[in-house]
Parts: sequence; structure tokens; C-alpha cells
Amino acid sequence: MTLQAQILSEVQALVRERGTALIWISHDLSVVAGLADRIAVMYAGRIVEHGTVDQVLDHPQHPYTQGLIGSLPSANRRGTRLRQISGMAPRLLDMPAGCAFAPRCPRASATCLTARPESSHPRPDAPDHEVRCHHPGAPTPTQPEAHTASEARA
Ligand code: SF4
Repeated sequence: MTLQAQILSEVQALVRERGTALIWISHDLSVVAGLADRIAVMYAGRIVEHGTVDQVLDHPQHPYTQGLIGSLPSANRRGTRLRQISGMAPRLLDMPAGCAFAPRCPRASATCLTARPESSHPRPDAPDHEVRCHHPGAPTPTQPEAHTASEARA
């Protein structure tokens, strides 16, 4: 067991023992997938997607979440280059007028450039799965395919 795994296991044991909640802040979705009940994905200071681990990792609706998941190493893609989200995060003092992810988003439309997306619940089968996107939905053929929660946990 690695030192990281030992520490995470100790913290989880403490959480169970004390019956308390814990917020993990991490860029490592594979670690979060094994620890958390719910995931909130943030971009440029805003939550852009929020739901259970399975909702967010198995059915990501926001292009940024899909890009993050697509950039995870996977045993299924051994030998291929890791995918990346093109472009840079915006400067927080010089935010785009509309969606902050628009300059990097393969799905951006004219609306995205001018109007900030508000919270919505696009999946009737998962009413607590929340997304901030004008065009939420499953990855398109031009976007990185999403890994499943079980792959992310591996
Ligand atoms: S609101 Fe538009 S630019 Fe922003 S993530 Fe959704 S599709 Fe992309």
C-alpha cells in the first residue's frame, strides 16, 4: 500500500468513526472516485457539474468534465498518447463574458460567448445531477470518450 493510500484510508476511517462529512479537493479524479459519494467539478471558480460519483463519471454532461475524464490514463488505451484539453484556463481578473470554458469548448455556440450558463438538471432519470452548460449532453464523436466510473477507480 502506498503512503497516499495509507493516509486516505486513515482519514476515511476517522470520518466513519466520527460520523462526519469531509470535502476532498483534488485534481485526481481516480482518487476522488474511490473516496467520495458526490463530486462537484469546478472551472474558473464555479461549480460546472455536480452529482453522485456514478452520475458524474459514468454520465458526464459538461464538456469540461468530459475532457477531464478523457485525459485520465486508462489500461484500455495503453500505448496511446494521453488526451488533453486544449487552451488555457482564463485569468480570473479577465473572465470571458459568457461561459468561462467557451474558448476551449468543442461545443461552444454564439450563446455561450455572451450568456453565462445557469444551473440545470438535464437528465430526467437523475434529477439531482446538476450542470451549468447551454448544451449539456453525452460526449460527441469529436470529443474524448468518457471513461466509466469503474475505470476511473482502477
Ligand atoms: S456553455 Fe457552451 S461553451 Fe460552456 S461548456 Fe457548455 S457548450 Fe461549452
